[in-house]
Amino acid sequence: MYLKDSKTVVIKIGSSLIINESKSIREKWLSDFALDIQNLQKLKKNVIIVSSGAIALGCKKLKLNKKNLKLDKSQAVASIGQIELMNLFIKKFNSKKINLSQILLTLEDTEQRRRAINAKRTFENLFKLKFVPIVNENDSIATSEIKYGDNDRLASRVAQISGADCLILLSDVNGFYSKNPKIDKNAKLIKEITNIDEKIEKIATKSIGEHGTGGMKTKIDAAKVCQLAGCHMAISNGLINRPIKKMLEKNICTWFLPKISKLDARKKWIISSISPKGDLIIDDGALNALKIGKSLLAPGIKEVRGKFNKGDHVKILDKNMNEFARGLSSFTSDEIIKIKGQQSNKISALLGYTSKSEVIHKDDMVEV
Ligand code: GLU
Repeated sequence: MYLKDSKTVVIKIGSSLIINESKSIREKWLSDFALDIQNLQKLKKNVIIVSSGAIALGCKKLKLNKKNLKLDKSQAVASIGQIELMNLFIKKFNSKKINLSQILLTLEDTEQRRRAINAKRTFENLFKLKFVPIVNENDSIATSEIKYGDNDRLASRVAQISGADCLILLSDVNGFYSKNPKIDKNAKLIKEITNIDEKIEKIATKSIGEHGTGGMKTKIDAAKVCQLAGCHMAISNGLINRPIKKMLEKNICTWFLPKISKLDARKKWIISSISPKGDLIIDDGALNALKIGKSLLAPGIKEVRGKFNKGDHVKILDKNMNEFARGLSSFTSDEIIKIKGQQSNKISALLGYTSKSEVIHKDDMVEV
């Protein structure tokens, strides 16, 4: 099963799983959900939770009705509710010895390559520290034009930039049905979807969504992002107790299968559209290191051409000017000029600040 085989898993939980229609917090569900996460950690998986609920919990605290909120007010409400949400998670998860962190993202953080790379590194370091990041949209500063607006699409971007193997959208239904299961008894659960065709799109637009912003339409949008990111995506029922345990045992859900492999997706992402902004010419030692899958370090760089920023796309050339690979630079061209040919442990002194030692990380490099 796809979840069992996944190393990095993103789980999205909607507001309706945190707080029910009568505005009570689903305390027991969340405590038990912590056991699900604990189990995934025991199985040595990296977990990211994307959780909604900031606005719903802010409304609860202020005794406001979510429906009548204007955008600027909802931003203040989200800022109040976000700490309520995190307090709730801390209360339920710390007792199970699960360490949590918080990441609030805006649209630009995942759409701009440089910021996306920074976010990716943060996720990786949190995994190394054995912390579970809880992600939400930074609703307090995101305005309508620059907003995901729903956490389904946000979660798919998080899955993409973190290089996740699978994304689980916990919903209020068992998965994607041939018809709306809430009004049609003949509706059948579709177990696997490879191709999101017109028929699927049509069902999605007609479906009545959950209480959150999403519904099936945004889940299909999320599935499209995942398909091109090489990530499996499931829609599964989150209202039941221990939803992840049930998924592992019974696999009652809908899986959207990726169209390309994760590695190809990442390579495409690195190579895609933007033309290289500069060249790095390297010596034979560095070339041999790259050939066995190592990152590019400062000592092996002989020359820098062009002017580029951190996160820009550059070509890596051997001493005969043959292109060997392309990658995303972790330093600006000016910085590389200062550190080229120097040992990695001198970088901080040369730049005047501490920095990572890879000029291009192996994960950000593709051989041509
Ligand atoms: N970010 C919103 C919140 O935390 C939820 C968006 C959604 O419902 O998908 O309240």
